[in-house]
Amino acid sequence: MLSYKCSAACRHCMYACSPKWQGDWISENDLEGGLSQLAGRIEPSPWGVQTISLNHGLHFTGGEPFLNFELLVRAVEIADELEIPSTFVETNCFWCRNDEVTREKLTLLKEKGLDGILISVNPFHAEYVPFERTERCVRLSVEVFGQNVMVYQVAYYHRFRQLGIKKRVPLQDYIELTVNEPLAKQVELFLMGRAARQLREFYPTYPARTFLEEPCRPPFLRNWHNHFDNYGNLVPGYCGGISLGNWHDLDRLMREGIDLEERPILGFLIARDMRGLLHFAKDFGYQESPTGYLSKCDLCLDLREHLLTRVDFQELNPKEFYARLG
Ligand code: SF4
Ligand code: SF4
Repeated sequence: MLSYKCSAACRHCMYACSPKWQGDWISENDLEGGLSQLAGRIEPSPWGVQTISLNHGLHFTGGEPFLNFELLVRAVEIADELEIPSTFVETNCFWCRNDEVTREKLTLLKEKGLDGILISVNPFHAEYVPFERTERCVRLSVEVFGQNVMVYQVAYYHRFRQLGIKKRVPLQDYIELTVNEPLAKQVELFLMGRAARQLREFYPTYPARTFLEEPCRPPFLRNWHNHFDNYGNLVPGYCGGISLGNWHDLDRLMREGIDLEERPILGFLIARDMRGLLHFAKDFGYQESPTGYLSKCDLCLDLREHLLTRVDFQELNPKEFYARLG
């Protein structure tokens, strides 16, 4: 994650990104140091080192990486020098204002060694990015990267085209346009991060006890699709606001492991003990929400947010994540 700063502030953003974040872009030094430790540990796409797949290789993301194009280019160069396989960039396409600039930037990234691109499309992005820019990005990405283009989620891309959408669409307008298609059923998304705060009206809620035995899906600790942010946080999977440790010294972290006494919240999450985490939070004055929770991640977030008001837990980072959920 080059930064949490984004041109958009999507309601479903797992990492609570927005234009309001301090830029704090990752430094070139950290990129070089961090990526050289990561390089040998990154597995290529099953279809080959120059192909891409969502859960293999390395993706440059944020926030919106194209907000700092120079840094993105440098990151791609470093990854290429380190022979990191299956690289791609993730974008919301805000920058695709005309064919010339779009083609130029994509071509430069390709020349520097980037293998492909992931283009985000859903009704939440469409509130911020005119769909004609998304269409342009898809068309020109296919021209530059061939088959190494992922559109996530492609069903929305086709639906927006069918509806003849070109501009930005407020969510309410999209709901009216698709009147018989309940939003909750259309959108495949994880109810975590900002989604847990801003999508409450679209989903049912349940009491905390509903989620106490439920495993994290996908698993909390896993050897694929983890994130490494610009503050040095090794973020497990999609769990915004949680840090397993400092990835700038990844070799040491891998060698010595995580001290769970120093990071008690990680202890509960790793042990899959949500009941324990709930009791732990209650010891710090937490009271269960009378309106319930959308998901296990919603409960987890609420507990963490509360705990952070009492103690500066080092595993709850970056702190700004918790301030940008609303
Ligand atoms: S989901 Fe993507 S485009 Fe939307 S705010 Fe988050 S990082 Fe930005
Ligand atoms: S419950 Fe918490 S730790 Fe588990 S996936 Fe959700 S946010 Fe991550």
